[in-house]
Amino acid sequence: MTHKNAMNQAAMKQQNREKTMQELWIHSPISRTLLAQETGLNKATITNVIADLQSNNLITTIGTEHSKPGRSQSLIMFNKSYGLCAGVVFRPQVISLAVSDIYATILWSEEVRFTISTDPMEVIGQLVEKLKTGISSCSHVSTRLLGVGVGTASLLREGDDMLYAIHSLDWKNIPLRNILSKEFKVPIIVDTGSNNGMVGEQYFGLAKNIRNAFYLSIGYGIGGSILANGKITRGQDGFAGDVGHMTIDLNGPYCRCGKRGCWEVMASEIFLDYRPFAEYIDRANQGDKEAIKKLNLIGKNLGKGISTIISVLNPELVILGCDVTVCGNWVMNPLRSELKARVWPFVLEKTRIEYSTLGNTSNMLGTLMRVIETIFKS
Ligand SMILES: [Zn+2]
Repeated sequence: MTHKNAMNQAAMKQQNREKTMQELWIHSPISRTLLAQETGLNKATITNVIADLQSNNLITTIGTEHSKPGRSQSLIMFNKSYGLCAGVVFRPQVISLAVSDIYATILWSEEVRFTISTDPMEVIGQLVEKLKTGISSCSHVSTRLLGVGVGTASLLREGDDMLYAIHSLDWKNIPLRNILSKEFKVPIIVDTGSNNGMVGEQYFGLAKNIRNAFYLSIGYGIGGSILANGKITRGQDGFAGDVGHMTIDLNGPYCRCGKRGCWEVMASEIFLDYRPFAEYIDRANQGDKEAIKKLNLIGKNLGKGISTIISVLNPELVILGCDVTVCGNWVMNPLRSELKARVWPFVLEKTRIEYSTLGNTSNMLGTLMRVIETIFKS
């Protein structure tokens, strides 16, 4: 066997293992026969991979399935006590923390609150202490920490995971991964909250089995994530999808980034004087004209920006995630009219625009999934 052939075989073996674990995770508990069908791999390959995973205590047998009279098959799934996953999600002035099992079932959660003037290192110190407490409190499930996922609310440079400019916090150039790595000594997977939100949608939400989608995180600002041909597109340095600071009005109001007419100033909670969407929806439902007008403008402004995204990427699905999911037709109707006015009809008719069904949990679920995915690749 040539060196190249051996390399190809090793790569294929790894690919089959990853695919098997991913499908097992999605469909478990499942029989080996069904798993072979789901992965498209032959039974012998599945048997080998499963035997290896069983010897590492990663999976367990749970009951049997009677598929045909007289025939029963054992069902397998991941061993829930194999290890714990930790998730850290940055939001403006609050960090959500969670610890889950290997199925992203949350076992413990907590928040760290801080103000704009709190020293970043002090905030990170609190985060580390609370997370360590959370991990210990789940020791009845497992004492092994598999990794820490982090969803940031900032631009993130790929390669060194340097946090760039959290505008709402005045945090700049914080080497978060290095700090957490020293504290926890496990893989630390840092990505933007929007990219993690897309991953959450892929496993639990609207992006299941979707190849081309755009996920928008719309709350106290706007972030985005591009799924192209089944993969998250990052661009040259990892900044792709950062659509919140696209200019949509040359003479618009100033943004905290220093530019004028940024999309997020005109289409997120910033446009509502930093008040939550839910508060404006309550007011609109009671007939408050000013609230209705502002929500209508947000819908229109979202439509303007989304029309550009659709023209550039031709996605099959645009997901509106995070706080905006409470807005219903107050925002969706003007948004859709704006799209009708701006996008080719033959493109628009094949593009779904929907609110996430996960509310603002897609980010945390995706952050935990990023840790679980490291197990699929191990
Ligand atoms: Zn801006």
